[in-house]
Amino acid sequence: MKIAILSRSATLYSTQRLQAAGVERGHEVHVIDYLRCYMNITSHKPLVIYQGKPLEKFDAIVPRIGASKTFYGTAVVRQFEMMGVFTANSSQAISRSRDKLRCLQLLAKKGIGLPVTGFAHSPKDIESLIDIVGGPPLVIKVLEGTQGIGVVLAESHQAAKSVMEAFRGIDANILVQEFIKEAGGMDIRCFVVGDKVVAAMKRQGAAGEFRSNLHRGGTSEKIKLTPEERSTAVRAAKAMGLNVAGVDILRSNHGPVVIEVNSSPGLKGIEAATQQDVAGKIIEFLEKNAGLVKNGDRCQY
Ligand code: ADP
Repeated sequence: MKIAILSRSATLYSTQRLQAAGVERGHEVHVIDYLRCYMNITSHKPLVIYQGKPLEKFDAIVPRIGASKTFYGTAVVRQFEMMGVFTANSSQAISRSRDKLRCLQLLAKKGIGLPVTGFAHSPKDIESLIDIVGGPPLVIKVLEGTQGIGVVLAESHQAAKSVMEAFRGIDANILVQEFIKEAGGMDIRCFVVGDKVVAAMKRQGAAGEFRSNLHRGGTSEKIKLTPEERSTAVRAAKAMGLNVAGVDILRSNHGPVVIEVNSSPGLKGIEAATQQDVAGKIIEFLEKNAGLVKNGDRCQY
């Protein structure tokens, strides 16, 4: 197969691993910087032009779109879709997953366990929002945040109110969530490919830190999932229309709850913690599905 990895740089760990896994399995693999792609929007012969030349047809692409480049990145993925190229994740599913609120609404619709979550625009509704999630302690999240930045634990009513007022004051969109204390600063990253969890690790926040993000000093380790956690992760990826997804779960008193579904999950942490060839599993998924399965998106939202 001829495979393109849409990535800003060939030196990134995940990109390198995907390229190596593809080559190892006998494929021709190109790394394409999607920000250097430009396009002709025509109904007859849609093209992606890269470094001055139209790209020849690929059998499959693996989009690795950075969170801050979603708009342009998904436009490039869409152009490949218009050319009939199979994509590991569709442009629509990527856009959907980048909006935390939309993501939670979709998961709720499918009956997937979530922390109790509230969302409001007006500062006048702050008091009622605090009540909706059961009062403090509660977690406040900026919708556009990643890597734990913009995720705040408010332990008192007053703290919750002032943090929310501050975020609203700078016009940031926020959501408010029940604090899952019993998770003890630990979350589980489930790496889903197709309809399977191919690797899972637990991430533990640094001492005194409720956020388990590795970027915030957390540590990671392989973990064995319960059947319920496994099926929650697969259902969450499916609800978002993602074939490749990092589903983050907390262990709560009311079962596994999903806090996030990531459409370009990193390979470094998960491969190091689990010793699994996750990149190989993604290439294997392309082998099984490119050419057979049409890009499609059955999700209405
Ligand atoms: P980001 O996308 O910025 O990583 P998350 O929503 O994943 O934001 O939150 C970052 C971390 O904070 C999570 O990995 C988890 O450890 C912790 N966390 C998030 N939401 C909750 C919650 N409702 N209760 C307890 N801990 C939480």
